[in-house]
Amino acid sequence: MSAPRGGLVETPDASGAFPNLSREQIAQLRSYGRRRRVQAGEVLIQEGEQTRDLFVILAGKVAVVQGYGTPEERLIRIHGPGRFLDELSLLTGQPSFVTSVACEPGEVLAVPVSALREVVAHNPRLGDLILQAFLIRRELLIGLGAGFRIVGSRFSPETRRLREFAARNRLPHRWIDLEEDPAAEALLQQMGVAPEETPVVIWRKQVLRNPSNAELARAIGLPVPEPSEDLCDLVVVGAGPAGLAAAVYGASEGLGTVVLDAVATGGQAGTSSRIENYLGFPTGISGAELAERAVIQAAKFGAAIRVPAEVTQLGKRDGHYAIGLNNGPEICTRTVVIATGARYRKLDVPQLEDFEGKSVYYAATLMEAQFCQEQPVAIVGGGNSAGQATLYLAQHASRVRLLIRDGDLGKNMSRYLVDQIARHPRVEVLRYTEVRELLGDDGQLTGVIVEDNRTGERRTLAATLLFVFIGAQPCTSWLGGNLAVDERGFLLTGPEAVRPKAERNTDHRPDLLETSWPGVLAVGDVRSGSIKRVASAVGEGAMAVRLVHEHLARVEDHIDVLAAGGRSPGPGAEEANHA
Ligand SMILES: Cc1cc2nc3c(=O)[nH]c(=O)nc-3n(C[C@H](O)[C@H](O)[C@H](O)COP(=O)(O)OP(=O)(O)OC[C@H]3O[C@@H](n4cnc5c(N)ncnc54)[C@H](O)[C@@H]3O)c2cc1C
Repeated sequence: MSAPRGGLVETPDASGAFPNLSREQIAQLRSYGRRRRVQAGEVLIQEGEQTRDLFVILAGKVAVVQGYGTPEERLIRIHGPGRFLDELSLLTGQPSFVTSVACEPGEVLAVPVSALREVVAHNPRLGDLILQAFLIRRELLIGLGAGFRIVGSRFSPETRRLREFAARNRLPHRWIDLEEDPAAEALLQQMGVAPEETPVVIWRKQVLRNPSNAELARAIGLPVPEPSEDLCDLVVVGAGPAGLAAAVYGASEGLGTVVLDAVATGGQAGTSSRIENYLGFPTGISGAELAERAVIQAAKFGAAIRVPAEVTQLGKRDGHYAIGLNNGPEICTRTVVIATGARYRKLDVPQLEDFEGKSVYYAATLMEAQFCQEQPVAIVGGGNSAGQATLYLAQHASRVRLLIRDGDLGKNMSRYLVDQIARHPRVEVLRYTEVRELLGDDGQLTGVIVEDNRTGERRTLAATLLFVFIGAQPCTSWLGGNLAVDERGFLLTGPEAVRPKAERNTDHRPDLLETSWPGVLAVGDVRSGSIKRVASAVGEGAMAVRLVHEHLARVEDHIDVLAAGGRSPGPGAEEANHA
């Protein structure tokens, strides 16, 4: 064992990630924890360890090390008295991605995680200081490439899938490109992995050959759905802003709440580098940080968040709802909030994801308009959203080119927009035109290569921003057509959700956010007529919980009435009630 030696100098805190607790703050934590002596070389937190305490250093120095005890061991930093160890994973139930080891004899205060949650909840100043430090530390760990390694080719879709899963879930990891990194092949040989078995994930002593996202999650100890006998009060499907809001309100109001997401928490908002229009964040907040904060908040109230957990079915079972998963056990619940959002249709061009969020956008609000000042802009789409965006952005941009696939702008766009576009001096409409390539470096667009789809002739257009308005698809295919939807597949709720008479077996009149099944609600972007914004999604998630309570109360009342008949609660009971 290579214990870092004493006498090492404490790493300065350049990023605000390693604040020194004041004497007063340590005294506050003392009432929750227990002091203990530590020996030089004693491991306080082991890489991969899931259950651990928060350690505050009272005396001596502690080293944070990556790959401790391996040939690739790397000293990350040294902490001294007054600092506390660990990072976000302590609160989210993830394993530690680094090892913390005492460099010299000293003393620490060990605070159990349950007590730490209490501090975060009841002592806002101290709680915020710890939380903020943990969030920055996660950022630093990601930047350092600590955690597991993904070895695979940049050309492999499976490598891309694993990298996207790690990035969307903000899991510290390092990607070793088989195409470029000379060490990659030697590493594979050493592990006994043939090139056709790649990508591989290497995490501590495990080598996973082309694992599924769920296998990777399991291997690094993320909480995944487990079989349970218990009936949930509420299952939230989708952990974007709407689902996370439903989780926070549901769990905080005493409902046994489980949240399931196929990919990552944060949803579409999680892919936004800065959300500028969400109430209460005057300088903006990244979607990832908003999601991380919401996850901690939901977990604090006892919501169980499971990722990856793709829901493939919603059915009725014994008077309750049964949620089917593609990689886990069935979950039974009294009520369901569907918050699976929508996926914006994307252009089929290479390297699109490198430019998304930096130069390629799917909305044209004031924020995007500010980026357009005196810039050449291209817009793709022939519907009203593309038309509105064209006129709006033309107030700011030096030039706007609207690219449409066919020859008639009036085919899918309102006449008033077509007329204004035709008259606008800075707008040019390019008909029969499709984007084939994006040009630029580091996500900064300089131009697009477009093709005339009648002649195949290509040319380059200058553009520093590209806006895409080619529609959004709701994530509802997993519902198997059981719930009422509008003509574009978005879930109908409230009075509109009543099923056609021939299909109706109940007089149930859905509440505001209720779908055509009682006790199944739809919120956020997946709902027909919703405003596609973070704030409205969060608002609907919160409202839905109130309606869940009302539904459960109706079912309870009904059980009282039917007590002698002994009917089950849940959807069957309510249908009978309304019949
Ligand atoms: C790049 C970008 C930037 C944006 N910027 C802003 C902004 O600045 N301000 C603003 O107000 N709005 C912004 N928006 C819009 C905003 O992000 C969305 O309106 C909002 O995220 C909708 O929230 P939601 O929870 O309804 O759905 P989503 O965010 O779409 O989340 C749905 C979740 O459901 C999960 N899911 C889907 N199907 C399943 C399934 N079968 N099983 C389990 N899980 C499933 C998905 O993985 C996803 O995590 C932006 C959108 C994008 C794409």
